[in-house]
Amino acid sequence: MGSPKCALGMLVAMLSCLAQPAAAQSETPPQLVVAISVDQFSADLFNEYRATFTGGLKRLSSGVVFPRAYQSHAGTETCPGHSTILTGARPSRTGIIANSWIDQSVSRPDKTIYCVEDEREPGSSSKTYVASLLHLRTPTLGDRMKQADPEMRVVSVAGKDRAALLLGGGSADQLWWIGPEGFATLAGRRAPARVDEANAAFAAALATPRAGVPLQAQCEARDLAVDIGDGKVLGRGRFAREAGDFLGLRATPEYDAMVLNLAGLLTEDLGLGRRGHTDLLALGLSATDYIGHTFGNGGAESCLQLAALDQALGAFFDRLDGLGVDYVVMLTADHGGHDLPERHRQNAMPHEARIAADLYPAALSAALTHETGLAGPLVLAPEPVGDLYIASALTGGDRARVEALLIERLSAHPQILRVFKRDEIAATPLATSAPDDWTLIERVRASFDPERSGDLFVVAQPWVTQESDAGKRYIAMHGRPFDNDRRVPLMFWRQGLRGFEQPLAVETVDIAPTLAALVGLVVEPDEMDGRCLDLLAGPANSCGAD
Ligand code: ZN
Repeated sequence: MGSPKCALGMLVAMLSCLAQPAAAQSETPPQLVVAISVDQFSADLFNEYRATFTGGLKRLSSGVVFPRAYQSHAGTETCPGHSTILTGARPSRTGIIANSWIDQSVSRPDKTIYCVEDEREPGSSSKTYVASLLHLRTPTLGDRMKQADPEMRVVSVAGKDRAALLLGGGSADQLWWIGPEGFATLAGRRAPARVDEANAAFAAALATPRAGVPLQAQCEARDLAVDIGDGKVLGRGRFAREAGDFLGLRATPEYDAMVLNLAGLLTEDLGLGRRGHTDLLALGLSATDYIGHTFGNGGAESCLQLAALDQALGAFFDRLDGLGVDYVVMLTADHGGHDLPERHRQNAMPHEARIAADLYPAALSAALTHETGLAGPLVLAPEPVGDLYIASALTGGDRARVEALLIERLSAHPQILRVFKRDEIAATPLATSAPDDWTLIERVRASFDPERSGDLFVVAQPWVTQESDAGKRYIAMHGRPFDNDRRVPLMFWRQGLRGFEQPLAVETVDIAPTLAALVGLVVEPDEMDGRCLDLLAGPANSCGAD
């Protein structure tokens, strides 16, 4: 419980708060849980820039820090990553195995299913969809807290629909994400006045061109050009953009500031943390991901973004301090990231490559059609790696033949590390060891859902970037079962909570049981895959154990 003295924000007062015994702090649940996911904020980025932080990320770095937490599963994409953070469940339990999967039983021509769509809506497709939580198989922490105490409030705001929905859950009071027209929510929900205010700010910002931000001193060393071909040079960007360029706006620090702005407005308006109930505010900050995909994560762009994020989070925490709210912050990421192969090649990794064009599902399908004489498409997949589906129209000997030829073709390809068959994945037990020790198939098993997963799971070599066309907008990727995509930071901070560092591997599925214990919510251990992390240095235990 923050004493009035702690809310003053003065250095001396803060120091005296920090000096309080942690055990005293633990006796009262926080009045507000702030759960933040920074999209594509890898443990590598956190470690690289940690010493430069002076704002909100510095504050969090002084708390309880797990610099190597794991999104332990193989399919390290945004949907599965966000699904683990506040459910305590891996994708094998949440059902959110990837950003998109294939369902050949749907009647619409587009068989790709987006993770937060309702494909039953007439006229929808995976690109033009109705947002929904239809596919999430597990309750979120907010769902569980609302069930235990309907008076508590759950607010989720993010730069992406999948982040807002999968963090917040279906019973959230407010679910907002940014689309091309501004903040949007589920169909049938009304917008409070503060959302109109945030949307007016969004429209004004979008309509205003930006000249770009100045290079900061700590980013000078990253300010090196990388020529990726076709006259496209990256590494020295400053976020300049034209008026009306929504996709450009997404890949700038302004995008996160908009999410934090609405979160602040709703926190004030709804009295979060000041109503005698523990409320939950979930935030999905997406700009780091859009910047990583557009520019890679090793240049000045990524450095400038993290500096801006650090300051924006600092200002947001100051705003909460000003409200006198006793809050706990958890910050993590939905996945890590892999830099541009072109920059890797400049930096001592000459073997890094873009994926070969013959590994794309359409190319595989065409090759097999030619080889077998069977009518295509024979192979469907949302991506060239990960889950791969054989056409359901194929049966008996034809199906077996296509599968065998496909495995043979993929296994012989120099860019392919492994091809797992559905049956061997299903027969693999869920791992119980530390996530940095998991075998490749154990990682794949944590992404396996019997209803949604493919017939094969394809793993490319770790040096392969799964986008072949460097001329596209998004050219640096994540999603692989390797540690630079799986490893994320995990931090907890609360006024008066004594900080410590735990470098051993934990999982993002540990977050929900940890926060549940902190707010006094009882969850049966078999309902989650994670475990409660004791946030109290010394013999006291925030998990309620002796
Ligand atoms: Zn993501």
